[in-house]
Amino acid sequence: MVTSVPLFDEGKWRISSASATAEVFNPSTGKVIAEVPLCDAAETTAVIESAARALPDWSATPAVERARVMFKYRQLIEENFEELAAIVTREHGKTLSESRAEVQRGLEMVEFAAGVPALLMGDTLPNIAAGVDAETMRHPVGVCVGITPYNFPFMVPLWMFPVAIVCGNTFVLKPSEKVPLSSVRLGELLQQAGLPDGVFNIVHGGKTCADVLLRHPSVAAISFVGSTAIAKSIYETGTKHGKRVQAAGGAKNHLVIMPDADLEQSVKALSASAYGCAGQRCMAGSVAVAVGTIGDQLVHELCAYAGALRVGPTDGQEDVDVGPLIRREHLKRVTSYLDIATEEGAEVALDGRTDDDDGFLLGPCVVDRVKAGMRLAREEIFGPVLSVVRAADLEDALAIGRDCPYGNGASIFTRDGYAAREFKQHFNAGMIGINVGVPAPMAWFPFTGWNQSFFGDLHIQGTESVHFYTRQKMTLTRWFRSADESHHDPVWRTS
Ligand code: NAD
Repeated sequence: MVTSVPLFDEGKWRISSASATAEVFNPSTGKVIAEVPLCDAAETTAVIESAARALPDWSATPAVERARVMFKYRQLIEENFEELAAIVTREHGKTLSESRAEVQRGLEMVEFAAGVPALLMGDTLPNIAAGVDAETMRHPVGVCVGITPYNFPFMVPLWMFPVAIVCGNTFVLKPSEKVPLSSVRLGELLQQAGLPDGVFNIVHGGKTCADVLLRHPSVAAISFVGSTAIAKSIYETGTKHGKRVQAAGGAKNHLVIMPDADLEQSVKALSASAYGCAGQRCMAGSVAVAVGTIGDQLVHELCAYAGALRVGPTDGQEDVDVGPLIRREHLKRVTSYLDIATEEGAEVALDGRTDDDDGFLLGPCVVDRVKAGMRLAREEIFGPVLSVVRAADLEDALAIGRDCPYGNGASIFTRDGYAAREFKQHFNAGMIGINVGVPAPMAWFPFTGWNQSFFGDLHIQGTESVHFYTRQKMTLTRWFRSADESHHDPVWRTS
């Protein structure tokens, strides 16, 4: 009997009345492990209304008390760390060590949120005009919505709701219908941490449910993370309906290897970047740009290193380096790029296809002699496929970046400080690594995707996220002096 994933509505866990459902798989075995409801408009509306009812009391709760829930939540996540990592592996397929890293990154968002009261302070300028004081303060925006992707079932929801909640908002999360189980556990622990009913809610579904969230008049702000086409449409629809929107999209991330790079270290970093989480990361390096004459040796060493990685099912297994992809259809889509590569004249130097029929496995692949116009150079593949492009010099590598429609991350591998500085200043991407394969910012810094990798103004994480989830109020104050009061400032000695 497959379990049905519950909704979380005003502090109650309940089974949806939706007739439409989707299957949740264990990608390691290919077996269905749960069924998730695809909520209709009425059920989605009811959950939004629960969040709206909880708003007046929660926004009036002192900020330090709101933050205190996150201290308890942090402790509960730590106590349940291994169980949470196991859930991520079970529904997503990434290795247990990758799931532990994901839980750790999520935990750091909770730590950041616990300190948010310090970032809620406003500014003051006394006597901005004669006898007039100016001050700003930050208010919550209202009901906030999070729509999240499948590739970080635990961390991406935590990018959103802890900060939104400490800022005084209430929240409706719609997790990816492919991986809803981590979110359920996140909700249970938040309830255990003492969050009042209705402050955090979960609704499940796909487009129908998202469309209601984007349009409902009680929703003030939408945080979205997913593919570029949907991020763009969420941004357009949400803003058209008067919402604040931050929408992070897909990516094509470049890893530039200069002729003077430490090749052994670079190969390890490239491999971890391209094949970690089976390439299903928005910060995965997917194009290696070999500068000068380093290309042949790089491809040779990369194939040797990546070809030795252990590929296999991950559920309950510690000794695996590369786990399965999320679904069989996605596996087919990713492997189709190996055929496209050959048709377009590139060379498959390492072919990771396996004959495993149960899970959705694909080992590391290296495609050499990819050229700028080819589909492998332009499209997000989202699997363990690393394309190698040759560039004459750093200027040539920067030009490849300028032509890329995305702009999430890019890294350079070099021993030359000048080249690193030029790259940092001029590469067309919002997150830069210098001898770092995955330049993903930690909780305290913003996740600054550019171009088609982000739609909106204020990014996720860091101080920008506090600004996204609050609106400012400015007050000018003047008090009139009574006739009998002295008018000099009593702070200064006058004799
Ligand atoms: P997706 O765009 O298919 O789905 C994301 C969310 O949108 C899910 O909750 C899904 O149910 C919902 N959705 C699907 N169709 C919708 C529609 N028509 N209208 C409204 N909502 C809809 O993405 P995915 O496949 O789950 O995740 C992988 C993608 O996410 C990749 O492109 C990856 O690069 C991107 N991603 C980006 C970042 C980032 O920070 N830029 C981080 C993680 C993942």
